[in-house]
Amino acid sequence: MRGDQDGSRGDLIAMHEMSLMESVLQIIEDAAKQQGFTKVRRVWLEIGQLCCIEPQALRFSFDAVMRDSIAHHAQLEIAEVAGQGRCEQCGCKVEMAGRDEVCPNCGSFAITVTAGEQMRVKELEVE
Ligand SMILES: [Zn+2]
Repeated sequence: MRGDQDGSRGDLIAMHEMSLMESVLQIIEDAAKQQGFTKVRRVWLEIGQLCCIEPQALRFSFDAVMRDSIAHHAQLEIAEVAGQGRCEQCGCKVEMAGRDEVCPNCGSFAITVTAGEQMRVKELEVE
């Protein structure tokens, strides 16, 4: 739901997703070389909630980057992984909705992110 005013910001976000998708394509092509498949029907991506990725921008970039590749017309499935961290002070687990969470147990800011920061190709459906 972006207005015309933040169009330029939208472009920046798309660029970010675009480069991510290029690395996804690289992963797919490497897997194709190793496993000998020639067509990808479906791609499952796991995306951490702390990655600040917009699924909508991701889908757009996916279509653009996969064009003329072996994953042309492949379907993109996105699974979001919740953010989680560990408090360095007391060692308890912290649910992280954002990067600036405070430990609910001791109030410390020293939290190491343990999940939700990465994007990975979880599975490929191939021919
Ligand atoms: Zn703590």
